[in-house]
Amino acid sequence: MARRQNTMTVQRTEQLAPHLVRVYLGGPGFDDFQANDDTDMYIKFMFPEEEATAAKPRGLQRIRAKLRGDEPTILRTYTVRRVDNAAREIAVDFVVHGDEGIAGPWAAAALPGEEIRFQGPGSGYRPKTDVDWHLLASDEAGLPALAAALEAMPDGTVVKAFIEVGGPDDEVDLIAPDTAEIVWLHRGVSSDAITDDLGGANAPIVAAVRTAEWLPGSVQVFIHGEAEVVMQNLRGYIRKERGVPAANASISGYWRRGHTEEGFRQWKASQRAREGATT
Ligand SMILES: Cc1cc2nc3c(=O)[nH]c(=O)nc-3n(C[C@H](O)[C@H](O)[C@H](O)COP(=O)(O)OP(=O)(O)OC[C@H]3O[C@@H](n4cnc5c(N)ncnc54)[C@H](O)[C@@H]3O)c2cc1C
Repeated sequence: MARRQNTMTVQRTEQLAPHLVRVYLGGPGFDDFQANDDTDMYIKFMFPEEEATAAKPRGLQRIRAKLRGDEPTILRTYTVRRVDNAAREIAVDFVVHGDEGIAGPWAAAALPGEEIRFQGPGSGYRPKTDVDWHLLASDEAGLPALAAALEAMPDGTVVKAFIEVGGPDDEVDLIAPDTAEIVWLHRGVSSDAITDDLGGANAPIVAAVRTAEWLPGSVQVFIHGEAEVVMQNLRGYIRKERGVPAANASISGYWRRGHTEEGFRQWKASQRAREGATT
């Protein structure tokens, strides 16, 4: 991903659902934002490293996003849900997953006027128009990118979308083609309370995707969410069992249960090394 940096300010926030908050970012930095047509555009917020390491009770003290000069930073990756050229704003939807972490708690308490720096955007997916059908699946973290993909599909597109969230209150309004089949899956607990009996192979989305009717013809697949669920329990099904070529499969973990984003990156590197050793 390009290391281009940008600084924007929080314009306002909107509580979309109990565990999802939208932060609108804008200001002079908007003019430097180089959007493209991909629907999975992502940016990497740069938080002061001090905030990640400070031993402070999160409930009592807000997280600082504004950087003091070039102090060390930690990165947190988020989808650009929408770019509004008229309002000169971008919208980013953050899963609020309790007091743990940096970005989630920051977004939950973000205030207008706050400055935040980020790298990007990077991207890699846009719904193709020359396939017979689309398969989309995500949890809450992948929902912004899935929602943007649905929004970009014209009426008449054949698409099945499976979205796993905590419960009915976590469902959000979607703009989708008139032909879309959208299935909300309720796991019964929020994403920060997932236990082994609801995670990995036991995640509701795994059974839903694996038992969904597989339509004839060519397919493009977009599946993103918790890494064990996606990488260990769905990617093999799509790529090997269903034979979807890499060029038509955007499948990756967006976060890892029990790991910070740094821990998740290390886990990804060790998985790649293991896969390399066995091929
Ligand atoms: C390309 C890409 C796009 C992404 N887009 C989005 C997006 O639009 N919206 C979004 O919310 N996330 C998105 N994510 C996921 C996000 O980067 C991670 O969830 C990240 O770990 C959150 O950082 P944090 O500082 O809040 O928590 P961290 O400090 O990274 O983690 C602290 C603790 O919180 C847990 N945790 C992290 N995320 C979640 C979660 N979603 N649910 C429950 N527990 C969690 C961790 O397992 C860890 O135990 C995206 C990731 C990628 C790679």
